[in-house]
Amino acid sequence: MNPLHIKTPLLESTPLSRISASRVWLKMEAMQPSGSFKLRGIGRVCYHHVSRGVQRLISSSGGNAGLAVAYCGRKLGVPVTVVVPVSTPERAIDTIRSEQAEVVINGESWQEAHDHALSLCGPDRELIHPFDDPLLWEGHATLIDEVAESGLRPDAVVLSVGGGGLLCGVVEGLHKNGLADTPVLAVETDGAASLAGSLSAGSHVELERIATVATSLGAKKVAAMAWEWCSRHEIISHCISDLEAVESCLKFVDDHRVLVEPACGAALAPVYCQHPGLRDKNQILLVVCGGVGVSLEQLTQWKNELKSN
Ligand SMILES: *Cc1c(COP(=O)(O)O)cnc(C)c1O
Repeated sequence: MNPLHIKTPLLESTPLSRISASRVWLKMEAMQPSGSFKLRGIGRVCYHHVSRGVQRLISSSGGNAGLAVAYCGRKLGVPVTVVVPVSTPERAIDTIRSEQAEVVINGESWQEAHDHALSLCGPDRELIHPFDDPLLWEGHATLIDEVAESGLRPDAVVLSVGGGGLLCGVVEGLHKNGLADTPVLAVETDGAASLAGSLSAGSHVELERIATVATSLGAKKVAAMAWEWCSRHEIISHCISDLEAVESCLKFVDDHRVLVEPACGAALAPVYCQHPGLRDKNQILLVVCGGVGVSLEQLTQWKNELKSN
């Protein structure tokens, strides 16, 4: 069986290389058919469950994870139910429905939607977790396999962190490809700093609340494995403002003509803002993780609102 994700372009960015005085390489996960890197891991997990006879796939994400499950279900010929809370934007629901998934609107918060999704599970109905599953990380790790195959050996990797699934996959991929010494700059927005919060507390803690326009980073607690990697791999945690994330998305549109969510803008920001940790790196790999929950109009509106605050 061919994987559900595609091999994405690895582009050397002239505009970003100029700003940072390093060679900046973009791994273009925004080009995945579902619009984000999530397809790598979720594709692997969905395929595994469908192969063992699961009859329905369930997700509790109204974002890129839910969309990736919907896409995989359609490709694998298995029905999908995505449970989302009442606060989910109409546009997100439409996008998921356009992949032929059934959308169930249930619950005031994500937790309530998730509890409802769990109640729908059974022996032949499987819930696909958005970031906490070893098989999912294995799928995300293919991103680094492709980079290694290209011959590039980065001196640093920059990525964003929500629940830490991408982080776990990328670090696993680095170890698998003889790149265990490559540091990772792990970026979050101030209002979703679950990894940074754990690092400053010195233990695996949960945030009380999430407050950011980068909704795809909105996990209150990172996966236990992401926290564990922090003591086994050089992971530099960094937080940026919502405004920096949004402005980075707008710059990226002009520089590369590709639209990404603020969750992805978070990873672009340290390069645009010349983070000191990247100064002495010759080759920087930037994971352009993508995301469909965005429009040019929305970015401009966020920028204006955040500037006036
Ligand atoms: C899910 C997602 C993230 C965060 O990924 P985690 O695995 O939860 O850390 C970042 N950016 C986008 C666009 C996403 O969809």
